[in-house]
Amino acid sequence: MIELSDERVIFEFSDAAEPALTIPSGETVRIRTKDCFGNQLQTPEDSIDALDWDNVNPATGPVFVEGAHAGDVLKVELLEVSVDDHTAMCTGEGEGTLGDIFHDGLSSTVKYIHDGKLVWDEARGVELDLKPMIGVIGVAPANGARINCGTPGHHGGNMDNTQIGQGTTLYFPVACEGALFGCGDMHAVMGDGEIGVCGAEVAGHVTARLTALHDRTLSNPVLEDADRFITIASAPTLDEACDTAVHDMVAILTKRLSGISTEDLVMLLSLCADVQVCQIVDPQRTARFVVPKRVIEAYGFTW
Ligand code: CA
Ligand code: ZN
Repeated sequence: MIELSDERVIFEFSDAAEPALTIPSGETVRIRTKDCFGNQLQTPEDSIDALDWDNVNPATGPVFVEGAHAGDVLKVELLEVSVDDHTAMCTGEGEGTLGDIFHDGLSSTVKYIHDGKLVWDEARGVELDLKPMIGVIGVAPANGARINCGTPGHHGGNMDNTQIGQGTTLYFPVACEGALFGCGDMHAVMGDGEIGVCGAEVAGHVTARLTALHDRTLSNPVLEDADRFITIASAPTLDEACDTAVHDMVAILTKRLSGISTEDLVMLLSLCADVQVCQIVDPQRTARFVVPKRVIEAYGFTW
């Protein structure tokens, strides 16, 4: 299998980025990723005050996928997502949903993983089940835009979506030759919303199969697993993000389903599909709309 180390990282998604690796479409790559702090917080003694903020939010890559052209879709199968055994996080003044209640700068903490659990407080037995996810994952954006890895958008990026983990498949709109895929910012565990501005930030490995698809188009990322089909949208407000995710879903389904009117489809989705928050702390907010495949497959859904 092809391995990609974390020596080559990007801090913005852009069609001007020099590829770290070129692969044929359909190839599998095992990618090493740094945590969102650029691995600068390794032990409880490492201070957030000494952080070099120019090295924050690195994504490993980009990977140039041969045969991916503007207007295509890049399929990213997340075959394996594994995380290291120590995590870091921060919160404080001006950060996250509660940045207004703090007035003393930033605080950080390093926590360890034992036996598949994040040990928050050993004395009190507060442990959290791991749910490894990828915070930053995407492709170069359209129109020559350069989008900082901390910002989500049509190209993906910092979506901080708890559902992007092992066993799921992502689809991105390709805006330039080669797609220029990158990923990083894994979380060992995170709550929807990411209210404190961080998950349990962690370095790790992502094994992904990258395939260019020429038979469909997208305006925003889409995610699926065995049971669910999910649209993802980012916008200046959570309201707009939710609205776009729902509109994207209905636009896709009305093209692919048969034997159901749009009105009936909307009523059905109103019963069984969930609008969920990805994150409310990044420069754009991200929402997802989750549809159970079982109900749409009854009307011939394929993707
Ligand atoms: Ca993030
Ligand atoms: Zn993160």
